[in-house]
Amino acid sequence: MIERYIQFVGEDEVDAIVKLAERLQDLSILHVNSTAAGGGVAEILNRLVPLMRELGLRVDWRVIRGDQEFFTVTKTFHNALQVGAVEVPRRFYEIYERWQEINANELDLDYDVVFIHDPQPAGLVKYRKRGLWIWRCHIDVSTPNPEVWGFLRRYVSQYDAAIFHIPEFARDDLEIPQLLIPPSIDPLSPKNVELPPTAVERVVQKFDVDPERPILLQVSRFDRAKDPLGVVEAYRLARRRVPGLQLVYLGSPAHDDPEGEAVYRETVEAAGGDPDIHLLMLPPDSHYEVNAFQRAATVVMQKSIREGFGLTVSEALWKKRPVIGGKTGGIKIQVIHGVTGFLATSPRTAAHYAVYLLREKRLREEMGAAGREHVRRNFLITHQLRRYLMAIAYVAKRAMWSD
Ligand code: UDP
Repeated sequence: MIERYIQFVGEDEVDAIVKLAERLQDLSILHVNSTAAGGGVAEILNRLVPLMRELGLRVDWRVIRGDQEFFTVTKTFHNALQVGAVEVPRRFYEIYERWQEINANELDLDYDVVFIHDPQPAGLVKYRKRGLWIWRCHIDVSTPNPEVWGFLRRYVSQYDAAIFHIPEFARDDLEIPQLLIPPSIDPLSPKNVELPPTAVERVVQKFDVDPERPILLQVSRFDRAKDPLGVVEAYRLARRRVPGLQLVYLGSPAHDDPEGEAVYRETVEAAGGDPDIHLLMLPPDSHYEVNAFQRAATVVMQKSIREGFGLTVSEALWKKRPVIGGKTGGIKIQVIHGVTGFLATSPRTAAHYAVYLLREKRLREEMGAAGREHVRRNFLITHQLRRYLMAIAYVAKRAMWSD
């Protein structure tokens, strides 16, 4: 029930959401993305869709399908859009288009409002028969490979609006309305609910990590943009000055990320058999374990080189853990340098801040408290839900005017 969130955000916020939802009861709403589990988008939709339904909204969520070749194409697009310099063979565009057509034929897209998440299913808009379509972008498209963005832009331009996380990601070359809505975490999800210290300790011990010694943690898919090798290097540098330090890198496979296996192997090699480096590959629904490790961590790292938002940052801050984050994308609005954690641009600076935090308990506590409050004010699910409902109302009204 939405009322359960009053304890976090107060009655006024919850009342505003209920009132907005009442105005939108007649609309059918569809979310489409490319994976049901693994990664931030699935994480959000798993919580947001049931909550929207509880508010009486008619909401469905569908996942597109594709073969390995299609997901290799979309991962290549993803890298090209976020990193820029990636070679994309010509035939990849045809493969992308073929799977858009297959999915358009198989999925019921007959809804009043359709949210298409990320580039993977963006081409479905070509097959729209009716309804308002919103492209919800979860990645950094500020400096994309021009060819891939040019290809995608032809689709994105057909939407009624696009939603980005932060102003930096909005595009000058789009004429459709662009809205800014940061993602969010759910304080009531198994990933974020309070856990008793005994339960935390049990999970940590189950994976042979010593709860008595300091733990540096990163939770991320094994993706080069998350810089797992940089995390290992930062840990090594920090360990020289903090004896007994342990590194836990917690990853899980995602159905739409075919590179995970290879990056995992590279990281194992970099770890070089150090018994205090724990590279754990858990199933994508290991919310309880992730929750426990985020609470067991002394310091959390999210050393991404490129990042859309990085839900893991808010998850850790909510648990009062200071975060050392890569200075990129949405991490910059979560990690306020010197207040909720530190921003770092290299393994060396990440290690420097890690040592500082590992040695200063008082500072960790102060930053942890500031981090939780920052998330409470800005990145809880109610915040995002309210803005989604406002976005629907705005796009619907705009469409009425232009009729
Ligand atoms: N996650 C998880 N297990 C893992 C790795 C990640 O449950 O082993 C979750 C993590 O807690 C977060 C989401 O997957 O909720 C990752 O979202 P984020 O925005 O940080 O990154 P993305 O994977 O979308 O790039």
